[in-house]
Amino acid sequence: MYRIGFGYDVHRLESGRKLILGGVEIPFEKGLLGHSDADVLIHAIIDALLGALALGDIGKLFPDNDMSYKDIDSRILLRQAYAKIRSEGYILLNLDSTICAQEPKLAPYIMQMRSNLADDMETETSSVSVKATTEEGLGISGSKQGICAYATLMLVRVNE
Ligand code: MG
Repeated sequence: MYRIGFGYDVHRLESGRKLILGGVEIPFEKGLLGHSDADVLIHAIIDALLGALALGDIGKLFPDNDMSYKDIDSRILLRQAYAKIRSEGYILLNLDSTICAQEPKLAPYIMQMRSNLADDMETETSSVSVKATTEEGLGISGSKQGICAYATLMLVRVNE
């Protein structure tokens, strides 16, 4: 039995914040604003995991008025979300994702992101795709006001 999930997230770029995408800290003059470390890629993936099983969204699982999640490493949230998927009897078959950012160039960091995400979801990097694009100077990411991310994935039910 297969289930498809889709997730989207966006965070505002601000000075004085670290830029963390897919669990990788990327040298840049600005970072993403948020209650947690604002890892927009991981947040989109968590929404896709939860969405695949109609379990709500990241805000339901990890409320942003809960101080225990203040500045938390989103990889911790991803591992918790994946544990929930496992407890429902599913594992990740594969994931595809796209980060929309005008800058900085993300290509040097993609492999490390895939490795982090694969570790957190107990799979191989060959099952985890991360892509990056600009939006040609248009919209949320093109104006450099923020960075957004899309994730789609498939879960498969396992007998245990
Ligand atoms: Mg978010």
